[in-house]
Parts: sequence; C-alpha cells; structure tokens
Amino acid sequence: ANLVPDSTTNVVCGFCSTGCGLNVHLKDGQAVSLTPSTQYPVNMGMACPKGWEALTPLEASDRATTPMIRRKRGGDLEAVDWDEAMIQFCEKLKMVQEAHGPESVAFLSTGQIVTEEMAFLGALTKFGMGILHGDGNTRQCMATAVAAYKQSFGFDAPPYTYQDFEESDTIVLVGSNLCIAHPIMWQRIERNQHNPEIIVIDPRKTETAVAATQHYPIAPKSDLVFFYGLANVLISKGWVDDSYIAEHTNDFDAFREHISKFTPEMVSKESGISEEQLLHLAKTIHQGKRVSFWWTMGVNQGHEGTRTAQALINLALMTGNIGRPGTGANSITGQCNAMGSRLFSNTTNLLGGHDFANPQHRQKVADILEIDESCIPTQASWAYDQIIDGIFEGKIKALWVIATNGAHSWIHQDRFKQAMEKLDFLVVQDMYSMTETVAHADLLLPAAAWAEKDGVFINSERRIGPVKKVAIAPGQALSDFNIFRLVARYWGCDDMFRRWTNPENAFKLMASLSEGQPCDFSGINDYRMIDDCGGIQWPCPPDEVEGLENDNERRLFSDGKFFHPDQKAKFLFSEPTPVAEPTDDEFPFVLLTGRGSSAQWHTETRTKKSEVLRKLHPAEIYVEINPKDAQRLKIEPNSKIVVKSRRAEVEVTASVTPSVYPGQLFMPMHYAKMNKLTMGSFDPYSRQPSYKFCAVNVCL
Ligand code: SF4
Repeated sequence: ANLVPDSTTNVVCGFCSTGCGLNVHLKDGQAVSLTPSTQYPVNMGMACPKGWEALTPLEASDRATTPMIRRKRGGDLEAVDWDEAMIQFCEKLKMVQEAHGPESVAFLSTGQIVTEEMAFLGALTKFGMGILHGDGNTRQCMATAVAAYKQSFGFDAPPYTYQDFEESDTIVLVGSNLCIAHPIMWQRIERNQHNPEIIVIDPRKTETAVAATQHYPIAPKSDLVFFYGLANVLISKGWVDDSYIAEHTNDFDAFREHISKFTPEMVSKESGISEEQLLHLAKTIHQGKRVSFWWTMGVNQGHEGTRTAQALINLALMTGNIGRPGTGANSITGQCNAMGSRLFSNTTNLLGGHDFANPQHRQKVADILEIDESCIPTQASWAYDQIIDGIFEGKIKALWVIATNGAHSWIHQDRFKQAMEKLDFLVVQDMYSMTETVAHADLLLPAAAWAEKDGVFINSERRIGPVKKVAIAPGQALSDFNIFRLVARYWGCDDMFRRWTNPENAFKLMASLSEGQPCDFSGINDYRMIDDCGGIQWPCPPDEVEGLENDNERRLFSDGKFFHPDQKAKFLFSEPTPVAEPTDDEFPFVLLTGRGSSAQWHTETRTKKSEVLRKLHPAEIYVEINPKDAQRLKIEPNSKIVVKSRRAEVEVTASVTPSVYPGQLFMPMHYAKMNKLTMGSFDPYSRQPSYKFCAVNVCL
C-alpha cells in the first residue's frame, strides 16, 4: 500500500534516440513505477522493454555512492569525501597542465547526460580550465551523419519528423535493424496506412529484413558502390526530378559524370545484387510518390560512412524526395541525447552549432555567456581516436571520462585499455563503481543517473523533451551538473559560471546561444513550455511559438532552402576506397557487429542490472554463422568456438543461422569481449570508427 502512487509526471526515456515519453508514477515525489505515455507524440502509449525497465538500473547494488581514490596503481579505490576528491582532481590536473601544457588534459563524454550538463561540461573545460581536446562517445554513433549533413546541407540538420514513417509510400532502410534497434520507430511504420513498400539494404537478414517487402543483402561495405550504381540507373532512365535539382542543388553535373562508371554490371559484381534486382529497386524508388531514405549504424560505422550517407542524401535530392511529408534523407541517431551533443558538447562545434574558427561566432558566444572572447579556443577538438593516439604519443597525460565506458565500447578494446594505463591521471565520473573503465580510474566521481536530475534530451527528430528528478541519487552521488559546479569552484573559475546556477538557467543560456542558428529554439521560455507542448522540435524561434502545442510533426526544407549561403544543397561524392582489413586465407570471414536485441543497451552497463532484460537476451557471448559454413567447419549449433582476429581471440557460442550469409559472422556489440576483435579504422571526414568490417577466422 505504501507504493500506491499519488501523482504522475512525464519524462523522456534515457536509453535510445527515439525519445519516448514515459509517465512516471510518484509517491511523495519519488518514482515508484512507470508506464508509456499515451499523450506524448513520439510513442503514443508504446515502449520497448528497456523503457518499461528504465527505473530498475537506478537500484543496482554497484551504484557509485561516494568519491573514491586509488592512491597507487594496482591498489584499491578508497572512499573519500567530495572535498578531498575535488582537491585531488584540481591538483592532479593542474600539475599535468603545468608540466605538459594545458592541452595535455582531455575529456571524453557521452550522449547520455542532459543537454544542459553537456553544455556546462563543454564550457567549463574549454573556457574555464583551458582544455582544448574533448570528445564524446557520440563519435561512435552519429559523427558520420553530422559531417554528411553539414557538408551537404550547410548545417547538421536531420530533416524529418516521425510522422514521415507513417506518410511514406516507399521506405528505404539502410544498415538499420529498426525492429530491434528502434522498435517504436518500427511501430510507427506499422501504423502506416499507405501499404508502403519497405526496402531493407543490409548484408544480414535482420529482423527488419524479414519483415520488409524487399531485401537487398549487399556484400559488406559495398554500399557506396551500390548507391552510386543505383543513382546511375535512375539517371540513365531519366527517373530524376530535373526541376528540383536545378532549383535547389549544386554540383549535380559533376556527380552524374562521377557515377557514370558505376555500371549495373560492375555494381552487381561488387555488391552481389543482380542487375535485374538493381533495376527493380530503381524502379520502385521511381514509382514511389513519397520515398524516404533512412540510415543508421550500418552506414555511420563504415570506413567511408560520410560519403555513403551523402550517397543517400544525393538519392533523395535527385528524386525530389525531401521537404515533403513521407520523404527525406534521414539519419536515425543512437543515444537518447546524441542530438543534444551534436549542438552543445562544445567539441566539434562551438556551443549552439557555431564554429570555433569563426571570430563572429566566438564573440557571440562570449557576449551571451559574459566571458572574455580570448577564453574560447579557435579550433575544434581532436576526435576520440586522435585523443587515444595523443595518449600513446605522450601529448595527453590526463583524462576525464564522463558517463561512458570506452574500455568496453571503443574499437580495438585492448588498445584503449593500454592507453588508460599510460595516463598520469584518469578521472571517471559515472553512476556505477564497477565498469570496465572505472577499473583503470585513479579517481571515481559518483554521478546521479537519468531520472535523478533535471534537464532536456533532444531526440532523433530534433524534439527537445523533458528529463526530471523523480528519484534521489544514492549516497553522496551528485548530478553531473552539480559536479561541474563543484569543479568550477575548486578550480577557481566559478565566477565565469555564476549564471549556471541550475539546469533551467543553463537551458535559457542555450536557447540564447541557438538564436539565429538553424537550430534556433530561443522561442522556448522555460521547461514548462516543453512539458505543455509534449516536447518541442527545433527550430522554434519566437515567431513560431503560436499554436505550437497543436503542431507536433515538423520537418525541415519544405521551402527548398538549405543552410549553405546560396540556400542550395550540394551533391558530394568520392572515389570508393578499399576496407582497411580485407579478408584473406588466414582470416577469411568478415565480422559484422551490431545490436543483438531490443532488451539490451550498448555495453549493458545499465540494462544488465534488470533481471527482466537479462532474460530477454542471451547471457553468454555468441557469434552467428551461416549453416553452410558451420557444416563445412564441422561446427555444431550452440558449441563453443573461437573467433580470432589479428588483435585477439575470443571464445563464443556458435549460433548457426541463415541470418548471416556464407563468409560472414555477426556478433552483438553488447558483450564485453567483442571489441577485443574489432579493428580501429576511421571515416576520413567524421573520424567515426568502422565497426562494420574486420577480418576474422573461426576455429573449434
Ligand atoms: Fe526508450 Fe528507445 Fe525503448 Fe523508446 S524505443 S522506450 S526511447 S529505449
């Protein structure tokens, strides 16, 4: 009876970028249960298993409840109070900066904390502490989409709204297992009343491919060649929108010339898709009235992901499928607040999608934040991989890791762990005390979790949604926001952040920073407005707030104007390049990686705390192998085998299944050892790691 709720409030889920609304039921202001919101425009009463179980990870026994210090390497972490933790934090980092220069300290953050905390972290480190280099785990999921949109459209601007899933008559999903990776988005497709053609382009026969009307199992990383070939067929058949191309784009002629050599014969040989199938796909796209192109990690995590994403953008532009209901070149983000990171992490972009190298942008930010413009770096950060390389080169000596678990998730995991051991000082700020990354920490700062603090997330369709404090963080754990306030005080730069008194005030600063940008949400006055409207999609300048509460599905580019100075989109393209590690006699299999289940989230750091979620996903690491390969190698279903790459070998359970094609293996990313096998190669524009292709072998 004690747990009978006496009130309910609405928050957005803290796992994936779908951003579902959850009704949290409260007793005396504390969460006791939750149900999916029926009113929130994203999910309409639906949630995946992770959403239903979102409160459970807060109760885990290994929550970090007090700051902890490891006084010598190899020793145990010892509990200390916040005063000693902050003194150690500042002394050690300042000592490194004095000995090796301010750039010798870096940070790695996340797409999991609220936007206000990201902005505070970015401002504190770069403007207050003199740190130049910082990046986020968002580099692992959406950096490619950012680079692709910025180059093609002039700003990082995913154009769609979820209603487009329901309005489209032809839905092209590329490298996206939507059924399990974004199950509520898949449900939006299920609601589509137009009997849509659902096309999946993916090397695996995923759950989504099985549900599709057409599946094109292209050879791993033949995607760029495949889309150039598809564009070539569309052009040669005259199935393009000439007037849209002429009015709203640049560089089409050069693109047409470039792709003319990607003949159906050549593309068929590379991709394994027949010329007839390629023609059928082109015809399907041509016949669609509202064609939407969607991609996620299969594209983003490729060695030439940016150009591949742009190949899809090019298809949307050349067929005029953008800016109308049911259309678009649409990147689906991964983490709950990757979109917040895109605008406010202060790493690749200066706060609010500005440019570090632009003096007017620096002055604008300085004026709004009431700081000296000279505090703002004139260049963007190194990317994640460059920070790791910097550690090996002795340029980075201390690292502050916030809400991410790179010792599990980063590509070529053992190298990441070696880097952590090379540091003079590693600070990890996390809600848990026993992650793979905490195992290397010299100092652990205990952080509050989602639902233990206030702020906003921005979801894949650019919707700013509420996060609220509906539970009390355990022990001495503090919200990341309050940890940053403490750091500012002990570092001696708190005067610079005197206006960052609480998340809502920080939100107002962010709204001012966004003013005049494509992402302008300066029309949002406070959190209450976000709540009243069921989340608000950017842009939302002051002159667009009228009737906002009834306008829940808004897309970009309906006027055909993009964000380049001439308001036109660009056709961008390159010569395809070979993968970094092709298969050979010694390592004849391609290892594919990806999400294994709708019940687990990334490194399982939170989701494995839930007994319900554990039951929905195999506990033991496994590899999918095609029955023909299994038979040839005499591998029995569910037997133990070893998967070996040039970097490591891992014992796994064999899952014999036709969902992977001969010569390919698939392993879910959730298991701790998986990234011992993967190889660090990176897209040249986005520096996103290529998780989707490395060469391996299997043995009994
Ligand atoms: Fe949460 Fe994503 Fe599941 Fe929605 S689909 S409940 S946002 S994890």
